[in-house]
Amino acid sequence: MLRLPAFTYLQPTSLAEALRMKADAGPNGSYVAGGTDLYPNMKRRHQTPTTVISLMGIEELRGMRNAERGTAVGASITLTEVRTLRDRYPAVATAAELVSTPLLRNMGTLGGNLCLDTRCNYYNQSYEWRKAIDFCMKKDGAICWVAPSSPRCWAVSSSDVAPVMVAIGAEYRLVGDKGERLVPAGRFYHNDGINYLTKQPDEILVDVRLPAPNGWDAVYHKLRRRGSFDFPVLGVAVWAKYDGRKVADARIVLGGVASYPQEVPEAGTALKGSKLEDDAIAAAAEAAYRPSKPLDNTDFELSWRKQMTRVYVRRALQELRSRRRT
Ligand SMILES: Cc1cc2nc3c(=O)[nH]c(=O)nc-3n(C[C@H](O)[C@H](O)[C@H](O)COP(=O)(O)OP(=O)(O)OC[C@H]3O[C@@H](n4cnc5c(N)ncnc54)[C@H](O)[C@@H]3O)c2cc1C
Ligand code: SF4
Repeated sequence: MLRLPAFTYLQPTSLAEALRMKADAGPNGSYVAGGTDLYPNMKRRHQTPTTVISLMGIEELRGMRNAERGTAVGASITLTEVRTLRDRYPAVATAAELVSTPLLRNMGTLGGNLCLDTRCNYYNQSYEWRKAIDFCMKKDGAICWVAPSSPRCWAVSSSDVAPVMVAIGAEYRLVGDKGERLVPAGRFYHNDGINYLTKQPDEILVDVRLPAPNGWDAVYHKLRRRGSFDFPVLGVAVWAKYDGRKVADARIVLGGVASYPQEVPEAGTALKGSKLEDDAIAAAAEAAYRPSKPLDNTDFELSWRKQMTRVYVRRALQELRSRRRT
């Protein structure tokens, strides 16, 4: 049985108090929301904070409200609660519903999902397993077992909701010691398996600003081994803004193929001016397939996963088209 290491658990009730606790704890302090990612990681000694600061008692991180240009969704709402966004933001609700199991979704939060640690077959293992291979660069070691001559870690962005946020152009409100800032979702993520967020360690994701749903639509499709349970090995988020019946602008974002949700601008460009006809969909799927470079560090054979990029982008765009007609 894997056991949690000993730690001090703090329960602030305001942002100011949480920031103060984090400043006191320094690098040994970590925020936690639902704990469905952090606690398993602590059991495997990926992260070993001695102080864990819960964000669940902070009112400002809960609930949803209409904001200036859309809807502000508190970072501590659970993935189960995200479902209530279905009427206005079906792609966000779908991505949240596709995360793991009902139990995990009742505990796991939106904020935790958007800050999820990157994953790799050589990393998501017990301490003893990792020790037996002399660890790896992401934690305790020096080499990357996926690409031994590489100076960087290629662990995979495995959040289901993050690619949707990037595709629809959501913004994240962060509050830290230095004040508050609004960051476009696309700039919140780094293509680096170790430093995968641009957020400072003290910063708290307070809420997510979803743009008003006027004139655009989005869908999310997920590839995984077991439909009831598994992390994505490929996620496809597609967003299109319409001018009349034509696509005025589009974004296609891939999850599970890089250390960040990867937008493929050429794929979006292939759709502009189209009415999502078959040839435009095929061109976008081909454009998304080319830069999709999954590595051998998660489930399934990697060349098959690459092939599936084309298939899943096509299916996502076909769903987008059928929604336009209904
Ligand atoms: C068996 C299993 C299957 C899973 N399957 C999936 C899956 O299919 N898809 C998927 O996307 N995820 C999956 N997950 C991962 C996880 O359950 C979800 O991503 C969940 O949403 C994480 O949220 P949480 O609140 O539990 O995060 P936590 O564990 O509380 O936090 C995760 C990280 O985010 C940080 N954090 C949390 N909230 C904030 C905040 N507001 N501000 C700043 N930092 C914050 C924490 O410090 C921590 O580093 C799975 C997990 C397990 C154990
Ligand atoms: S990609 Fe390489 S460095 Fe990163 S977790 Fe996997 S083996 Fe370790």
